[in-house]
Amino acid sequence: MTDTKVETREFQAETRKVLDIVINSLYTERDIFVRELVSNAADALEKYRHLSLTEKPEFDADVPLEINIDCDDKKHILTITDTGIGMTREELETNLGTIAHSGSGRFLEELAEAAKKDVNLIGQFGVGFYSAFMAAKKVTVKTRSWDGSEGHEWVSDGGGTYTISPCPGLHRGTKIILELKEDAEQYANKFTIERIIQQYSTFIPFPVKVDGKTVNTVQAIWTRSKGEITDEEYTEFYKFIANAVDEPMYRLHFSADAPLAINALLFVPRENFETLGMGRMQPGVNLYCQKVLIDQHSENILPEWLRFLKGVVDSEDLPLNISRQALQDNALVVKLRKVLTKRFLKFLDEEAKKDPEKYARFWKTFGIFLKEGVTTDFEYQKELGRLLRFESSASEPGTLISLDDYIGRMKEGQEEIYYINGPSRAAIEHGPYVEMFRKRGIEIIYTLEPIDDFVLSHLREYEGKKLVSADRADLRLPESTAEETEEKKDEAAERLPEDKVKALCSWMKEVLGDRVKEVKPSSRLVESPAMIVNVDGFMTSTMERIMQAQGDSGLAMAGKKDMEINPASPIIRKLADLREKDGEFASMLVEQIYDNAMIQAGLLVDSQEMVGRSYRIMERIADK
Ligand code: ADP
Ligand code: MG
Repeated sequence: MTDTKVETREFQAETRKVLDIVINSLYTERDIFVRELVSNAADALEKYRHLSLTEKPEFDADVPLEINIDCDDKKHILTITDTGIGMTREELETNLGTIAHSGSGRFLEELAEAAKKDVNLIGQFGVGFYSAFMAAKKVTVKTRSWDGSEGHEWVSDGGGTYTISPCPGLHRGTKIILELKEDAEQYANKFTIERIIQQYSTFIPFPVKVDGKTVNTVQAIWTRSKGEITDEEYTEFYKFIANAVDEPMYRLHFSADAPLAINALLFVPRENFETLGMGRMQPGVNLYCQKVLIDQHSENILPEWLRFLKGVVDSEDLPLNISRQALQDNALVVKLRKVLTKRFLKFLDEEAKKDPEKYARFWKTFGIFLKEGVTTDFEYQKELGRLLRFESSASEPGTLISLDDYIGRMKEGQEEIYYINGPSRAAIEHGPYVEMFRKRGIEIIYTLEPIDDFVLSHLREYEGKKLVSADRADLRLPESTAEETEEKKDEAAERLPEDKVKALCSWMKEVLGDRVKEVKPSSRLVESPAMIVNVDGFMTSTMERIMQAQGDSGLAMAGKKDMEINPASPIIRKLADLREKDGEFASMLVEQIYDNAMIQAGLLVDSQEMVGRSYRIMERIADK
């Protein structure tokens, strides 16, 4: 008996689910499986081309780099062969038996959802290979690695298992043999295949031959001059490089000679796939040197927070045979990264000025990445600051302003940029923090995302103006004008006299104990009786809210707080007398005022206790 060494393996559970999803998705768009397999072949060729510069492989070194497609219209078999890096036995198992992407439930849900909507999206999920089973009842992969080790054959019908066995006599590269399903026999027709290649794969930088005839024209669009390239060509290229189906939102094609020779073609997609539940995105820009791919999905040429960009960067200044590891700390690459980043941020600024509405759409989808940039990368803070957008007291609801807009409207004598965080515009505008701003006509930025406070406290200042959260205890609004001071004098008549205020404050502090650091009169409340302000510059109410939401014990993490009271407010004025007459009832009111102010700061209070107390207060009032 001969030992055939055929081993049967089970697919990883997640992979089985992916297979189910792919096999059962819309058949109308089945064409894309050809694109996925051809693009895998092209990837394998690119990897080999790069490797041959660094490692000088000897095995099958003369075999030309190309993709061959054979159509057997009689037996209904489609074969796609590439002369790329191939796979070792281990690689076969990991690459085709498991999915590299997080196999999380959410990922699978999103994939299933995407597959229902548009099968084209499958490629973006990094599971393109499995699309072969949309058209094939049986898939055979014969492959031999560039290192010359023994070749293998992988066979599966897309059920729960696959087999692997040694396969002698192979050349370098991978051959994928698809035995087509009855209703997919047209894919063994060479005209069908040619049409699909023309449609999806014209930019493959290697010859693609169908039954021996080359069907694509190899071109590196980014090295051509802008004027010669049509919008359609750009869009086709984007679809090719980003594995996308729609048009890009923005496109930047530029070249530079100094300080480095660069040709770059960058695209901003329409969708943010990270928010679509796909987990962290991989970088999407490839690094070329004289049209040779050096680093696919390069992590080195752009900062992490620009990982949503797709495209290519070509620099002939880089040494061709540089290895991927050496890229990381290569001085030229560091320079390249800086030039690219600055150029792209400048581009965004120009686009924002040209078409603010379009930029607002960009901001809504990708703004989160720029915010990430502010918090992680000090190098580009100035450029990033310019690109931030927020609502403010001066903007229409739903429309956005920039920090430059804000500075342009600052009042005379105003040195700082003010902001306040809240869950919604309405919540902020009803709260105590904006009262004095409204009264004095000072603009205040509304940060509606919890992360915004974190971002602005990292930015610290913009154009020399400090960024200040309006819930800070040490907030100093600009000096009042003469007119405003007059007005204040009028109001002073209705205020509690200063000595009484002082006594009231220290008594209130006694009632509240450790809950506050200090109780003091406010210079910025207009109507509300009281508000909570933060003594600690870092631990703003927003930060505290985030921690509370994460389940951290609110009290343990709480920053130091003061309560400011409004000596002109009727309830505060009455409290001064009431505490002499009925200390117990007055204490109850103080606690209630404190809880109310905490709620307006967006912070948690003991709701049981608060409800109980408010009933007791009501009883007292009803008694009167
Ligand atoms: P992706 O291409 O997004 O990584 P695929 O499901 O298309 O996902 O392919 C999975 C992996 O299988 C690839 O990353 C690659 O390592 C390997 N692979 C697929 N096709 C080939 C091929 N023709 N030659 C070499 N490796 C391949
Ligand atoms: Mg692929």
